[in-house]
Amino acid sequence: MGLSDNFGRPLFNLRISVTQQCNYNCTYCHREGEVKPANSGNTCVEMTSDEIIYLAKLAIDLGVTRIKLTGGEPLMRPDICQIVEGIAGLSGLKDLSLTTNGYLLYNTAQALHDAGLSRVNISLASLNPENYQTITGGGVIDKALAGVKAAVNAGFNPVKLNMVLLKNINVSDVPDMILYAEKMGIVLQLIELDPVNVSRDYYLQHHCNLKEQEEMLQKRAIYTKQRQFMHNRIIYHLSNVNVEVVHPVENTDFCMHCTRLRITSDGKLKPCLMQNNKLTDILTPMRQGAGDEELLQLFKQANQLREPYNKNHNQHKLLL
Ligand code: SAM
Repeated sequence: MGLSDNFGRPLFNLRISVTQQCNYNCTYCHREGEVKPANSGNTCVEMTSDEIIYLAKLAIDLGVTRIKLTGGEPLMRPDICQIVEGIAGLSGLKDLSLTTNGYLLYNTAQALHDAGLSRVNISLASLNPENYQTITGGGVIDKALAGVKAAVNAGFNPVKLNMVLLKNINVSDVPDMILYAEKMGIVLQLIELDPVNVSRDYYLQHHCNLKEQEEMLQKRAIYTKQRQFMHNRIIYHLSNVNVEVVHPVENTDFCMHCTRLRITSDGKLKPCLMQNNKLTDILTPMRQGAGDEELLQLFKQANQLREPYNKNHNQHKLLL
């Protein structure tokens, strides 16, 4: 029997940040809610591959069935295939995915697939080279597109594009992005900008509530589906392509259907992207020799700290 939190929400999902290092500097990046790079002096506090795999195993023992690797840029870790292979080999796991900016994917996609990765999400904010470079702080679109091709050729199913919508920056790129997803046979995910680790001014200038895009998709859709255990997200099935919408801001439904716990790159259990005041350090006890019972107890404690962020909208206002 798996875990549920105090609001009756089951725990199925674990999102593990494997590093804070990144080769991009995206203007919108929430860095998975980590406040600052996990550096103390010159020493980077980062979990080893064995530690990551062990924590994944404990989470699976508690009922987690889906794990996402994120960062920073997960492909910056030279041992990423080892991490994937270790987690993919754990019994009870149904889905192991990874989100990447795609820059290093052109020559790692096949190895990741062979190591047991089920799916890949590639962040692509624009197809326009200049726009892409500006948004990503110097990213090279050709590299990302080569990464998309490599992911498709490696056999990931589905490959998803993650496009965070930014008012006055990339909203007009949506039709091209739908065509591109259709041409590549992949899924497009339109993501609402979260007000995390971006300035108040940036958020106010660039936040787009996705209403127009959802209306357009509703008109074009043959049918829609809701992903119950993934925040009740809607997938719009168009004639030749699927478009999923991730609409978290001030959305009570999104939070009520959240089944996720996070682990930060420096080994803290984090119940919600939006909150940093409820972290449970699990890496330190693990390094000090804590046994399984003690570590499982920390997971259970962190699970009890999960609560739907959007049950109180005022908290959003405080973050801005
Ligand atoms: N470097 C990897 C990448 O680019 O996908 C992984 C890290 S990135 C923080 C993970 C995901 O968060 C990406 O899909 C990205 O689109 C999304 N993301 C980043 N900042 C966001 C924000 N402010 N609001 C919503 N989504 C965001």
